[in-house]
Amino acid sequence: MLKSQRLLLEISENIQQQRISVENDSYLMFSIRDGHYGNRFDEDSLLIQLYLDDIGLTNPLGAKRDKHKMTMVYFSLEDVPDKYRSKLDFIQLVAVCESKHLKNDVKAQRFFAPIIENLNKLQLHGISIHGVHLTFSFSTVVADNLASHFVGGFQSCFNGGHFCRRCYITYSEKNLMISLSKIQTRLIIDHDDLVDKIINDPNRVPLKAVIGPSPLRELIGFHPTTSLPRDLMHDLIEGICSMIIISLLKQASALRIITYIRMQERMEQFQYGKFDSSNQPPPLLVKHLQNNHMVATAAQKLCFFKRFPIIFNDVVDLLPSFIVYKVLREILDLILSYPFRKKWLHVLGELCDTFHETMLSHFPDKITPKAHFIREYKYMINDFGPAVKQWCFRYEANHSYFKKITARTNNFKNIPKMLVTRYHLKQCLTFGHLSQLQSSQYSVGMKKV
Ligand SMILES: [Zn+2]
Repeated sequence: MLKSQRLLLEISENIQQQRISVENDSYLMFSIRDGHYGNRFDEDSLLIQLYLDDIGLTNPLGAKRDKHKMTMVYFSLEDVPDKYRSKLDFIQLVAVCESKHLKNDVKAQRFFAPIIENLNKLQLHGISIHGVHLTFSFSTVVADNLASHFVGGFQSCFNGGHFCRRCYITYSEKNLMISLSKIQTRLIIDHDDLVDKIINDPNRVPLKAVIGPSPLRELIGFHPTTSLPRDLMHDLIEGICSMIIISLLKQASALRIITYIRMQERMEQFQYGKFDSSNQPPPLLVKHLQNNHMVATAAQKLCFFKRFPIIFNDVVDLLPSFIVYKVLREILDLILSYPFRKKWLHVLGELCDTFHETMLSHFPDKITPKAHFIREYKYMINDFGPAVKQWCFRYEANHSYFKKITARTNNFKNIPKMLVTRYHLKQCLTFGHLSQLQSSQYSVGMKKV
């Protein structure tokens, strides 16, 4: 990929452009470089972001769903210009492993060892391409909460104890109206101390949710307390937003404003506009409302959340808890902003506290760990930069290629090898052409107009 001189030039221009914009307006945030943890990176190094997730390659209802579960590790360069960032070709596969092997600490270490070794070499020595010396820095590991806790050496249970990887809040405290500044934050020294205690006495796990050393502890620049940002897609779009919509609709039904059947009809008959048509969500069926479950992709859930007051315009005014939606919508709009303004952090903090208060008064039994995670976005953006640069949205889209290949080949003898071979042949073909082409000839998106 980096053999394309045109692309290299665009990347360095992008870094330069962002630096100039920040120099002119110091409140702007474009990436982790403008956040609190950005100080640790060299200005000319290219930032490497890792992603980790488990995927099921076969039918999720089939008998072999657990047998063919894979852990996928991807990486992407954070400094690639925004027009390329959503292209799946710019997300690269690092490693594939059967998920069952990572449950064993020794096997997990053996799996991560070559990844750590290569990344450390890259960070220490860099590489030279066509006489140009490039240096790299590891930035963050992006993942859902379960995978982040696995990578950080935290417990994988969120319904008890200290469930948060940023602070020491306990499960019983999450429903109290305590200011976040009063809850102790996890510090590097404290965390290392806890890990040492566990190594000396393995029977003491979990110790404040820490269950042991991280499998990536040898990676230069990685620490469980400073390298695992929150994921906006899982926490907000697929988590709290969907839960609030379903709670509001259920309340509308309980207050006899509208029935489940009428809700389904409304969604089926609603005409989505030109920009929403590609993310049009499927209608919420009666059984989904009864099970508190929304069947849709993250993009469809986001579209539905934004159009909710229009689809149910006559219903929302009659709902006493609609204020929860309004506050959450404000929070979501702020968190999705790119570039972010440091001045908005204070407003975001206030909104998050208001959201917690309204949740306590309208849906106290719906305050899940994710409701606490949302309160921390002020700190997360301050530390890691804009949240959209740390989300899993495009990485998750990359899974579909591997799922399709497995289904089409029907080859289950050595799935990781088969996936890696085919993937790299595809990437060689794509980037083999890119180095010869001008960037203007590389399509960055196609849409019917
Ligand atoms: Zn916390």
